Amino acid sequence: MRVKGYAAKDAKSVLAPFEFERRTPKPTDVSIDVDYCGICHSDIHTARNEWGGTLYPCVPGHEVVGKVVAVGEGVTRFQVGETVGVGCLVNSCQSCSSCKAGLQSYCERGFTGTYNGREESGHTFGGYSTHMVVNQDFVLKVPTQLDQAACAPLLCAGITTYSPMRHVGVSKGDKVGVVGLGGLGHMGVKIAASLGAEVTVFSRTADKKADAQRLGASNFIVTSSDAEVNKHKNHFDYILDTVSAKHDVNQLLGCVKREGTLIMVGASEKPLDLSVFSLILNRRSILGSLIGGIPETQEMLDHCGKHNITSDIELIEPNKINDAYERTVNGQVRYRFVIDCKKF
Ligand code: NAP
Ligand code: ZN
Repeated sequence: MRVKGYAAKDAKSVLAPFEFERRTPKPTDVSIDVDYCGICHSDIHTARNEWGGTLYPCVPGHEVVGKVVAVGEGVTRFQVGETVGVGCLVNSCQSCSSCKAGLQSYCERGFTGTYNGREESGHTFGGYSTHMVVNQDFVLKVPTQLDQAACAPLLCAGITTYSPMRHVGVSKGDKVGVVGLGGLGHMGVKIAASLGAEVTVFSRTADKKADAQRLGASNFIVTSSDAEVNKHKNHFDYILDTVSAKHDVNQLLGCVKREGTLIMVGASEKPLDLSVFSLILNRRSILGSLIGGIPETQEMLDHCGKHNITSDIELIEPNKINDAYERTVNGQVRYRFVIDCKKF
């Protein structure tokens, strides 16, 4: 099937309209008309080849919400007309110990990314498009009582912040810091607050202070002020770091209390400088976390449905994608751009 979308043709070009073929659905595939797709900073890193390994043309997008328009004869879990989501993964080996444990993002043979992944027909194209064909095992049910456009970012920003907080067991009264108030950060604040944590935002300037409070944070630290940061030494049980560029992790580790954890989800293209003393003192840990598995993504969506959690979005038409990229890189997103994919 021929579909419309937007693609980067190389690392230096802006995204432009692009038509391509979706695969012929297999018996276990769900065919989806894409309604909305969020813009994740990973889309930008990938379109611009900042992490290396980008396959072009690159159609990004892994925060997809749409409607089922057809199902293969082997599809048991979805029906035509249902609202569904697709996140960062569209396939994995389904037989290694990670996949068996429902941790498909850690598939030992490597998962297939929704974009920039490899499959028989070539490389995968993501959600900046009108239509997708996805194996039913990687399709999620989206709570229908929530605003559908504002649900799209749950499929990456939501699960990427929910998964590590569940893994470490964030619970009532825990002191949780969230670093970087962007797409992931603002979801991290909402989710941590919904788990009962006392949430503090770390941001470069005071500009987002009122927003942080509205999102559920009770405290706000401006990281450009050492004096302000130093007031919170050895304070936090967990700090969730969502920063997209190189920054000072030693400053953040100093704010983690004895045996606490700095959780890294932000994916700077450049290596970060770590002083081992930041870990040795107070027996602190650093934990990395990649998206989340399919069962946990469904659990997160259900949790968001129950707690009425969606993303704060700015809905844009496709011709504004490149502007949205610039504003995201400049820290001006409040707090996630979502593309109206019916307008491609
Ligand atoms: P985003 O919306 O651009 O937010 C990133 C935030 O980081 C900004 O809003 C800004 O917050 C802060 N920031 C940006 N540049 C900075 C700098 N030079 N120094 C200090 N702080 C800076 O991006 P996102 O979509 O949330 O993604 C964040 C990162 O997570 C990206 O690297 C992305 O690739 C990665 N990611 C990882 C996973 C995973 O599985 N681990 C999944 C999705 C995304 P303030 O303005 O508040 O300072
Ligand atoms: Zn993402």
